[in-house]
Amino acid sequence: MSLKANDPSRQTWLDLPDNTDFPIQNIPFGVFLTRDDIITIGTRIGDYAIDLGALHQLGYFKDIPLTDDIFLQDSLNDFIADGRKTWRAVRNRVAELFDVKNDELKSNTKDKETILFTLNEIEMQMPVQVGDYTDFYSSKEHATNVGKMFRDPDNALLPNWLHAPIGYHGRSSSIVPSGIPIHRPQGQKLPKGSDEPIFGPTRHLDFELEMAFITTASNVLGEPIPAAEAENYIFGMVLFNDWSARDLQKWEYQPLGPFLGKNFGCSISPWIVTLDALEPFRVEGPSPVKKLLPYLETIGKKSFDISLSVSIQPDKGEETTITKSNFKYMYWNMSQQLAHHTVNGCPVNSGDLMASGTISGPTPESYGSMLELSWNGSKPIKLKGGQERRFIEDNDTVILRGYCQNYEVRIGFGEVSTKILPIFKS
Ligand code: CA
Repeated sequence: MSLKANDPSRQTWLDLPDNTDFPIQNIPFGVFLTRDDIITIGTRIGDYAIDLGALHQLGYFKDIPLTDDIFLQDSLNDFIADGRKTWRAVRNRVAELFDVKNDELKSNTKDKETILFTLNEIEMQMPVQVGDYTDFYSSKEHATNVGKMFRDPDNALLPNWLHAPIGYHGRSSSIVPSGIPIHRPQGQKLPKGSDEPIFGPTRHLDFELEMAFITTASNVLGEPIPAAEAENYIFGMVLFNDWSARDLQKWEYQPLGPFLGKNFGCSISPWIVTLDALEPFRVEGPSPVKKLLPYLETIGKKSFDISLSVSIQPDKGEETTITKSNFKYMYWNMSQQLAHHTVNGCPVNSGDLMASGTISGPTPESYGSMLELSWNGSKPIKLKGGQERRFIEDNDTVILRGYCQNYEVRIGFGEVSTKILPIFKS
């Protein structure tokens, strides 16, 4: 099915703000609470949220085989499970309905009132019920920086890193959408020069600038997904902040890897941008340093040029952008990650979420965590207004943003914004 929704010349009859992340060529998917307290699946054009459940009830999707309640759900899991053909048909139809040349909905004031919401009338929810969450570690720059700090500067990358996309299984219960605050976690940590741990609030609270992809049901137990087919099973992407407590992490991570230093919270942007919408922004990723085993070989442009940034806004203070990176720096692409994840026969389900790992670029201004930006606290970052940060303080808000842009169109992810609250007190 053609990607008619991507036509860069298409214009909409809705008013669009300048430089919007959500032109008619984007058509992301999300879940929101309406002004009438109803949960629905929707999309967004400019600063309007569109109720797809109501559009379907009004008969605007009658030519697409969809169950009656496909959009009247509190998650996208069932819609995603319908597969790529359905996602494409719905995106194409939404593009057609909001096209400036189409009067069908534009001229129906009553229907427009039913399906259109301004952003302050709605509350975004988690777009999917995440069954399983995996976090990869796929930026060579990030893995090298962390290896230099925590292990051996001369052998920063472990020997397996260049041969396989390293990852670990995370915890889906603490993944929250943008706007939900997170408490500073407490735990065990080892004071400098001591042999015995103490218990207390993390002093090294950090963000990780990542993106994540969301899958459809992909395989059965035992069945690997070939790298060449992996993209068929990727619905779309979100911005992903993998909150980390570095002092807890450092004490606990050997021998089994990340645990309580990681699983207290992850924050995602609420609109899932489809892989289809990102099609014009394909690029080749870095060339492999080592010859890859055949199951990890991919052909063609499997990465995406997505500009990323992170800002810190202190309580009542001004926002400062502290880093700018790009998804295209990732050494391992999503097809390789999914092929590796399933090569042993591990099943992947609709609504599973796979995060990229911290996306650090080649220069210090493009590092994707405070750990790297402040080089483990040794080089404080200056904020507007004079404050400094080595790690994240209570009541700081951390905002990740991402977008793709060429001469014709801008496709963005909006933002994921999270305020850090002091430790939880019952
Ligand atoms: Ca991570």
